[in-house]
Amino acid sequence: MNLPIYDVIIIGAGASGLICARECAQSGKKTLLLEKDALPARKILASGNGRCNLTNAQASPAFYHADPSLITQTLATFTFQNCLDYFARLGVLTAEEGQGRVFPAAGKSTAVAEPLKIAAAEAGAEIQTSQEVTRIKRGKTFSVYTRQGSIFQAHYLVLACGSCAYPQLTGTQSGYELARSLGHTLITPRPVLSGLCIKESAFARLSGIRCQVRLCALQNGRILDQAEGEVLFTNYGLNGPAALNISSAVSRALPKGNVNLELNFFPQLADPTDFLKKRLAAFPNRRPKDFFAGILHESVANLLIDFIGLRKNHPMAAQTPNTLERLVKIPSGWPLTAVGVRPWNEAMAAAGGVNTREINYNTFESLKCTGLYITGELLDVDGKSGGFNLHFAWASGFIAAQAISKEN
Ligand SMILES: Cc1cc2nc3c(=O)[nH]c(=O)nc-3n(C[C@H](O)[C@H](O)[C@H](O)COP(=O)(O)OP(=O)(O)OC[C@H]3O[C@@H](n4cnc5c(N)ncnc54)[C@H](O)[C@@H]3O)c2cc1C
Repeated sequence: MNLPIYDVIIIGAGASGLICARECAQSGKKTLLLEKDALPARKILASGNGRCNLTNAQASPAFYHADPSLITQTLATFTFQNCLDYFARLGVLTAEEGQGRVFPAAGKSTAVAEPLKIAAAEAGAEIQTSQEVTRIKRGKTFSVYTRQGSIFQAHYLVLACGSCAYPQLTGTQSGYELARSLGHTLITPRPVLSGLCIKESAFARLSGIRCQVRLCALQNGRILDQAEGEVLFTNYGLNGPAALNISSAVSRALPKGNVNLELNFFPQLADPTDFLKKRLAAFPNRRPKDFFAGILHESVANLLIDFIGLRKNHPMAAQTPNTLERLVKIPSGWPLTAVGVRPWNEAMAAAGGVNTREINYNTFESLKCTGLYITGELLDVDGKSGGFNLHFAWASGFIAAQAISKEN
């Protein structure tokens, strides 16, 4: 059987695979991009609530859970400015919003996905959809087999299959299995950028309420991570940006034991305890509900009053010293226990994945299998919410393509 031999086959037409295909084809490589879904770029389209938060001006290792030297090197090679310039060259107009987040100015993720697809096709990349790769054989070339019965061959292969997060939007274990079949090991994938389930069922009373907080995750007294921002209380626990941003640290730590959370309802105050002491001195005759009026959401205040054990019909001056001691401390360090992270169908990314120690940090080439490259979320890299995951997907796909382009 004489199959056409491609220079490069890229598996997965997501963020990383599309940019990689465009760059490989642009450099003159005969490039084939295989996608299992009927449509490419489905996660790009869904990203940022349909607006695609494609990168972030603050991108740095601090926003990633990964080997810092991999992130440092990747961000030095494909910087924030490189990313803006790249999309500008593709004809995408972007706009920066708060906290360095960048979106397409058109306000819709199609303004990122479409130009990428068009540019890949214009460069000469062949895209075949509804082709799910199930097996790869490494011989003199790579032989790639699909569930649909096709066989393709290439000198270089890129696994850009993404993670198993969000299975309803193409997330799959497939990339992990293919990587393993080519000699790689995995760090157990865990759901991240997902809500936190907590033990304290009384908090379900706050379901639907949003507050600005600082949220800290600790294990055995050691701070794992912390985030400031909005939290959304739910019937299972906490969601919203602050909860999502510590979910990676929580998800990774839970197999080792309990994770404690501290919820601070006064993130804007340097010394909330001192503030509350002064307020007690200023309003000794107020009953608890009136004491909290103006500083806490009414439902939060009611929960706090019950939790601390304040006597509802007594003025603050008549409360016990013990409850007053708790009152000045709990609102800025309310102890909770994280018992889980919401499952894959709610997780926007995965912690874990292909072990990055098995990858050349300059090129994303496998150290286990010559000619194989692994990029994007399939690797053990996850970023916080804000455009960091897509930045890594673009960067790794771009860098792999540069390396492949230099090969004869
Ligand atoms: C709801 C949601 C919102 C998000 N919002 C943002 C955001 O605003 N900003 C941000 O930075 N990140 C966001 N993310 C994360 C971001 O989308 C991912 O990190 C990024 O898409 C990863 O890129 P990738 O190329 O590695 O994988 P993907 O984009 O997931 O692409 C992988 C592709 O490979 C295909 N594939 C897998 N296995 C096979 C196979 N065996 N054969 C053929 N094809 C295969 C898949 O179908 C898929 O199309 C969001 C994620 C979700 C789920």
